[in-house]
Amino acid sequence: MNFILSLIFPDKCPYCGCLLKYPQTACERCKTELSSAPVIKTIFSGVCCAAPFYYEGDVRQAIHHFKFRGAKFNAESFSEEIARAVRSAGFCMDEVTYVPTSFSSRWKRGFDQSDVIARKAAKILDVPFFPLIRKTGKNKVQHELSPEERRKNVIGVYTAVMPEETRNKSILLIDDICTTGSTLSECSKVLLSAGAKEVNCASIAIVRK
Ligand SMILES: [Zn+2]
Repeated sequence: MNFILSLIFPDKCPYCGCLLKYPQTACERCKTELSSAPVIKTIFSGVCCAAPFYYEGDVRQAIHHFKFRGAKFNAESFSEEIARAVRSAGFCMDEVTYVPTSFSSRWKRGFDQSDVIARKAAKILDVPFFPLIRKTGKNKVQHELSPEERRKNVIGVYTAVMPEETRNKSILLIDDICTTGSTLSECSKVLLSAGAKEVNCASIAIVRK
């Protein structure tokens, strides 16, 4: 939202809902309270996921509002915090990509949440963004499944679609939430099979085990 519009319709802090002053993306209190060392999870050997938050409390609600209630402004803070986590994790990257949702969920929601966040994070990190993966297979919704079912549910569902931009590249792969890591794991394998040199992942939040 630009400056003039923000005077008439001030944005709200994604985490506590208080009114913000342009160009704030979250209030100072939440920024201080929520900022800590990034959460790092090993997805599989050689591939890690960094996130600024655990998936709980105000963060969980802010993500829910972003995905299901049209709070698109929340993406500003999410992408800034992801960039901060990625920098402090020290990942090497030539480019940024994302885990796509199916065509039908993108159509229903009107946007792909991970696409939006990954593009913004790439801009902040000052590296190019490419949509390197497409969801070409159908599967069940992950959150309804057990960890073992989740792992099987994502196999063969994603395809690398930009071979030139994938080969020999260090890639940062972004998804909204990292639950068991099975989707990020499958998409990392797809990129590595397509010749990526290295893959690391990032998400807004990681589910605490
Ligand atoms: Zn706040």
